[in-house]
Amino acid sequence: MTERLDHFMARANAAYYATRDPFADFTTAPEISQVFGELLGLWAAVTWRLLDRPSPVSIVEMGPGRGTLMADALRAIVRAAPDFRAAATIHLIETSSRLRDAQRERIGDAVWHDALDTVPEQTLIVLGNEFLDALPIRQFVRRGIGWTERYVGPEGLAERTTDYDPTIEAEEGDVIERRAPAEAIAGDLAARLVRHRGAALFLDYGSEASRTGDSLQAISGGRPGDPLGAPGSADLTAHVDFARFGEAAKAAGAQIHGPIPQGIFLARLGLFQRTNQLARRLPPKRAAEMMEGARRLAEPDRMGRLFKAITLISPGTATPPGFE
Ligand code: SAH
Repeated sequence: MTERLDHFMARANAAYYATRDPFADFTTAPEISQVFGELLGLWAAVTWRLLDRPSPVSIVEMGPGRGTLMADALRAIVRAAPDFRAAATIHLIETSSRLRDAQRERIGDAVWHDALDTVPEQTLIVLGNEFLDALPIRQFVRRGIGWTERYVGPEGLAERTTDYDPTIEAEEGDVIERRAPAEAIAGDLAARLVRHRGAALFLDYGSEASRTGDSLQAISGGRPGDPLGAPGSADLTAHVDFARFGEAAKAAGAQIHGPIPQGIFLARLGLFQRTNQLARRLPPKRAAEMMEGARRLAEPDRMGRLFKAITLISPGTATPPGFE
C-alpha cells in the first residue's frame, strides 16, 4: 500500500495513542512540573476577566494526554478564581479512548468531544499543549521547476508529481511541510472568537517564521526512531508553523499575540516565583527536582526557546498575560 504522508501519519498516531502509553515514550511540560498547568489555569482566569467575565464559559483543552495540565489548572483556578470555576464547564477534545479513561480519573466533571464542532456555542477559553505537533502534515519536495509530494510505500518514502504549488522560494531538493488540519482549527477557533468572546492558548515546538526542512520525527522508548516504522509503534510529530497558524486565525478575524518563546512566556507568568514558593515547603531533594523542572521548561537551550506560545483572542480585547 502506498499512502500520502498525512494519511500515514494520521493512521500511525491514531494507532499509537489508542494502544500505547505515550508518556512512557516522552515527557511533556505538564508532566515535568505541576507549575506549568497551574500557570495556564491562572492565565485562563485572568484572560476571562479581560473578556469581562462572560458566563457561562467553557474551559476547553485540546489533546489533554493524561489530564495533568487540566487537573493542575483547575486546582489553581478553584483557589484563585472561584467565580471563574463556578461559571465554567470543562470540555476535553480527545480521540483516544484509552487516554479519555486516564483523563476521567483526574477530571471527573468534564464533557468529552472528538473535535471542536460539538463544543457548545458560547464563550470559550482553550488550552492546548503539544497538540498541534501531532496533527498530520504533508510534505512537498522541490524538483526542477515543480514539486513532488511524499508518500509512504512498502519501500519507504516515494515521491509523486503534484500540481500543488506551495508558492515559496526553494532550491532543488528542499522539503516544505503543510498542515491543513492545524490551519482549519485556527480558522474554526477564530470564527468562534468573533461570534462569542474568548481566547485560545497553544504551546508547542516550532518556528516563528515558515521555513523549509523536513521536521518529521518519531519518538519511541524515549529515543528518536524511524518515522516510517510500523504504524502505531512511535509517536509522530513535526514542527508547528506558527506563522501559517497565526495567519489562518487572523484571516478568520481573531487577534493574535505571539508566538513568543515558552521560556519568556512562563517566566513572565511567574514560573520561578511559584516554583520557589512550592520548593520552600519540600525536603531538599524534592525541592531541587522542582527547581530543575522549572529550568528545563524555561532555559533557552532546553525547552525554553524551541517551544513557543501563541494566543488567539476576540478582536478588541486587551493583551493577555505573558504577551505584554
Ligand atoms: N497535552 C498533553 C498531551 C500531548 S500528546 C501533554 O502536554 O502532556 C497529544 C495529545 O493529543 C494526546 O492526548 C492525543 O491523544 C491527542 N490527539 C492527537 N491527535 C488528536 C486529534 N486529531 N484530535 C484530538 N486529540 C488528538
